[in-house]
Amino acid sequence: MTRPKPPTATCPICNRPTVDAYRPFCSRRCADIDLSRWLSGAYAIPVAEDDDEDGAMSEGEGPKDQSGRPH
Ligand SMILES: [Zn+2]
Repeated sequence: MTRPKPPTATCPICNRPTVDAYRPFCSRRCADIDLSRWLSGAYAIPVAEDDDEDGAMSEGEGPKDQSGRPH
């Protein structure tokens, strides 16, 4: 059996050749770096969603403010 190696297998963190044990990274350290990056990105999503909910809430307050607003 022959298993051709992918020609462009480099670590996305430091661009070094990947190690089979830590694919697609070259070391556990780089895998850790990518994971923390991914996590910080995942944490940023709920914040954006929360902001969206806030906008929907003020939308419901809109009409109320309009009727009570003295012209
Ligand atoms: Zn690396």
